[in-house]
Amino acid sequence: MHASDPVTRELFDRVMVPSYNPLPVIPVRGEGSRVWDQSGRDYVDFACGIAVSCLGHAHPKLVAALTEQGSRLWHVSNVMANEPALRLAAALCELTFAERVFFANSGAEANEAALKLARKYASDHFGPSKHEIVAFHNAFHGRTLFTVTVGGQPKYTEGFEPLPGGIRHIPYDDLAAAEVAIGERTCAVIVEPIQGEGGIRVPSEGFLAGLRSLCNRHQALLVFDEVQTGNGRTGYLYAYQGMGVTPDVLATAKGLGGGFPIGAMLTTAKIAASFGVGSHGSTYGGNPLACAVGGAVLEIISRPETLVGVRDRGERLRAALATLGQRHGLFRQVRGRGLLIGCELVEPYRGRARELMAVALEEGVMVLAAGLDVLRLVPSLIIPDELLDQGLTRLERAMARFRASAKP
Ligand code: PLP
Repeated sequence: MHASDPVTRELFDRVMVPSYNPLPVIPVRGEGSRVWDQSGRDYVDFACGIAVSCLGHAHPKLVAALTEQGSRLWHVSNVMANEPALRLAAALCELTFAERVFFANSGAEANEAALKLARKYASDHFGPSKHEIVAFHNAFHGRTLFTVTVGGQPKYTEGFEPLPGGIRHIPYDDLAAAEVAIGERTCAVIVEPIQGEGGIRVPSEGFLAGLRSLCNRHQALLVFDEVQTGNGRTGYLYAYQGMGVTPDVLATAKGLGGGFPIGAMLTTAKIAASFGVGSHGSTYGGNPLACAVGGAVLEIISRPETLVGVRDRGERLRAALATLGQRHGLFRQVRGRGLLIGCELVEPYRGRARELMAVALEEGVMVLAAGLDVLRLVPSLIIPDELLDQGLTRLERAMARFRASAKP
């Protein structure tokens, strides 16, 4: 291929491993909540690269942080510390329950660190028999073999056996099942405070608090996977801060880098002590570029006015979606917190969320699916009202077209 040859969606099928099936559009530029494709067509972005670009595209403060750090120092490895990583870790400790931070490069890696730490902590303090991890059906924690196994969605583990052992799955939002499953052999319970990929499921009042007290009773660690719910997405810096339950370990990624790859595991000093020198690591985790951008993101998303803005926009968007859903007879329920929103399709259209998502793209608005039945919207935390309205107008056109073409 020559540098001047056109790059097309068709090239994907010729040169990429077929583990994805990307939509036909190839975006080439973004500014705020608007994205342009190769032909110059524009899209309103309600997808944010799967809940990542939390401040939209090319935010001037993030571009400045990246280019400033980019012309100074990209990489040193963990043989030495670096200033942006230490600053970001200190800020995360100031803003959360955490006293110690481990940096990774993705959500899966942050969870992998959390799960390994939980095993190690239990082994250090209680011996090897306390090694069981309790997790939930339909959860999503990443695609490493450990995290995909903990995730408990058979479609992601089939064919990859033998799988890591010592993992139990129970239904989400079922405290009675948790009561039976969590016991003296449990080293950790890992849970998404709101299930993201599993369909934007908000648990009942008392579920997370119930897990907290079961973990306390059995000396198990409560691990919150806040990869999707974190970084302002629900209108709180981390969702736990709006839900009144504090975990022992928290995994974050996605929005923390605003589009630059980064992950982090947050915990207390006592638990962190089980990750002694040499016990876990990553060449790139905590690299200066990612942490400089993460620091700029955190400074903006932790401002009270940003978080209040997320709650206000979320309410407005949910109300507008409920109205559209009624008008077109498509949504059974609109749910979520802040700007993490799911619209569950009514019975005759169940299983077709990805089709609706493709029609929306044709109409000029990027949305996502969460599972087969839920349309997911995760716009920028600072999306202006005009773009919210424009995106909704385009989405309504898509809903009308989808309904006319996708006869139940
Ligand atoms: N955990 C949750 C809750 C997620 O939503 C995701 C990604 O969607 C992950 C973990 C995995 O993150 P990554 O794709 O960065 O490894």
